Amino acid sequence: MKPFTVRLCFHGDLNVFLGSKSADIVERRLAEKTSIKDIIESCGVPHPEVDLILVNEQPVGFDCTLAEEAKAEVFPAQNRGTFFTKQRLQALNVTRFIADCHLGSLTRNLRLLGFDVAYDQNADDRQLLKVMTCDNRALLTRDRRLLMHAIVQHGYYPRSQNPHEQTIEVIRRFDLSELIAPFTRCLRCNAPLEETAKAEIIDKLEPLTKIYYDEFRRCPDCKQIYWPGSHFPKLQKRIKDIRSQVQGKP
Ligand SMILES: [Zn+2]
Repeated sequence: MKPFTVRLCFHGDLNVFLGSKSADIVERRLAEKTSIKDIIESCGVPHPEVDLILVNEQPVGFDCTLAEEAKAEVFPAQNRGTFFTKQRLQALNVTRFIADCHLGSLTRNLRLLGFDVAYDQNADDRQLLKVMTCDNRALLTRDRRLLMHAIVQHGYYPRSQNPHEQTIEVIRRFDLSELIAPFTRCLRCNAPLEETAKAEIIDKLEPLTKIYYDEFRRCPDCKQIYWPGSHFPKLQKRIKDIRSQVQGKP
């Protein structure tokens, strides 16, 4: 087969995955028929980050194979425009997640906002992918290789290393701002919290908590009890900050 060149242009912030910071154009010289998905991933961009591919100006799926010279435009899910809305490759409204073991603070923040995030500090990649598939969860990870695994359907690579910024990124990426429901999920184990009468748990409370608080929620799984104690204003401020940042979309 005659060697051929595919010229790829990466839009939005997909250039964070390319080796060089400023360039967003990559040329690939190929000698055999190759899927556009493999060509894109060979540039370092994981497929769950790709929302639209145009080959010679026509929208295509990941399985489109190229065997001759072509131009490809690759778009991220963020700031999705109004063009080719039917040919998009990613789902926006995923509400269940699984985070890798390095994203503990992001997990806590998302649970604080009410989102379902599976997290196991000791899980290896195989276990992570298994839970992802069984529960149909989107994978949150800064491990690019893992995100490129063929069985990953939905996923996201947090750009920032800062948990607060990562939280905002995930809410924007999956369009979750309308679904925020603070203090409804256990921060420790992810189960939805239940309201509980003070009388039912009074023997488990510290003396001052018994006196000053009347509203309690309990985790049905790990039995952790939650009440609006001294840390509450700090958490409320964190939620308020996140809300104000995600509502003013860039
Ligand atoms: Zn719990």
